[in-house]
Amino acid sequence: MTHPTDGTCIFCKIVAGQLPCFKLYEDASTIAFMDINPANAGHALAVAKGHYPTIDATPPEVVAAVAQTAQRVARAVMKTFNPFGLNLVQANGEGAAQSVPHLHVHVIPRQRNDGLALNWQAVPGDRAAIEAAYKQLQTALS
Ligand code: 5GP
Ligand code: ZN
Repeated sequence: MTHPTDGTCIFCKIVAGQLPCFKLYEDASTIAFMDINPANAGHALAVAKGHYPTIDATPPEVVAAVAQTAQRVARAVMKTFNPFGLNLVQANGEGAAQSVPHLHVHVIPRQRNDGLALNWQAVPGDRAAIEAAYKQLQTALS
């Protein structure tokens, strides 16, 4: 299978075998390996083999394949480390702190009081503002 590739991209180099990684899993359209800067022990990445910068630019079947690989790795992490919790995180763009513009899902085991800044307090929203955003999205989805 051929994939779009970017010669300057670190994940494309890993996919091509030009850079090493701790490879956990590989199939026709995805690869999973350990994150080099783990947020917690066991932090891994499920990565598209093709160079797709963000979720909107990725073919749906590749999104599905990456999701399945993330689930596969998440199950292994849960079975192996029995973490307090586990987050899947997928960043798009600078404002979401994406540092590698090549589609990937973080599989992050959570420890009690690990201080990771992924979670937010639930503050009830303004109903009219929620409805206004809902209407805008409805239009975009129709
Ligand atoms: P992002 O910030 O784009 O959501 O996540 C990119 C992730 O890739 C970061 O967690 C970072 O630690 C990881 N990363 C960056 N360069 C490398 C590398 O060369 N090898 C591996 N295994 N992970 C990397
Ligand atoms: Zn790439």
